[in-house]
Amino acid sequence: MIKMSQNKLNKQTDDKNLENKVDGNVKVEPASNSGNSGVETRLHTPDICPACHNKMQRYNMGSLEAYDIYSCQLCGSLFLDPPVQRRDVDNFYSDLDPEVVHIANHEKRIKALRKLIDKIVVKPEGKTFLSINTLQGYAVEAAKDFRFKEIRGIDRYDFFVDFAKRNYGEKYFEAISVEEYAERGETANIVVSIESFSTQVDTEKHMQAIAKIMKPGSILYIEEVDGNSHFLPNDLTRWAYLQPPITTNFISEKAMRSLLERNGFKVKKKFFNWGIMMKLVAVKVK
Ligand SMILES: [Zn+2]
Repeated sequence: MIKMSQNKLNKQTDDKNLENKVDGNVKVEPASNSGNSGVETRLHTPDICPACHNKMQRYNMGSLEAYDIYSCQLCGSLFLDPPVQRRDVDNFYSDLDPEVVHIANHEKRIKALRKLIDKIVVKPEGKTFLSINTLQGYAVEAAKDFRFKEIRGIDRYDFFVDFAKRNYGEKYFEAISVEEYAERGETANIVVSIESFSTQVDTEKHMQAIAKIMKPGSILYIEEVDGNSHFLPNDLTRWAYLQPPITTNFISEKAMRSLLERNGFKVKKKFFNWGIMMKLVAVKVK
């Protein structure tokens, strides 16, 4: 069992800007406002969709535990009401005391990641590779096959980083948020982000931090559940991916593209797949 240190938790919960930003976006409506079936306003609906930045037109999709699930009718992204706060996630993990183990067939996963890196990186020589939301560290292990100048993996939670360090090498990993990493002035030429946006309480701030790490010409790979995928189950309340407060929102591909453009990226390539994932390669253009 892996214990999370209380200091670490306090540090993470200390991100006041993040919480204020989310709070600032939330409009509290009186409960009597909810009446029409299908489209209604409950307690906490932002005026503006956090993903596509259009005026929020809410469509309710059911309830799960303490949360209502709804989508933005304009971009199809999925959100939770009330919106998850960072302290909710930290408290959740603190209570859970997570034990990190390998995913099933993790060697196969690493092999697939090697193939992926080979597809998105032309010349690894002299470049810095960064895996964000690195979890067990598989992307870092895969990157060791290439001649990167430097390979790093970061994750907000030290229980994942401890696991990654034990399995794939102390020197590669650090428990730090992307925001703090960007704030420190770190840079990377290749950033691999796998299912990192769905766990963010503020996706715009997350993308801004990624953008800050990357200079023009740098490559960003995003793999994320498409909140508007045709392959999503009809009943989202029984959907394994939706695990509040760990997963808090699922941005549609349309909204992800606008989020990328707003932050200086241009989508260069899209990998097709039959499932619910969107797989985009974007280049930093400014
Ligand atoms: Zn939207």
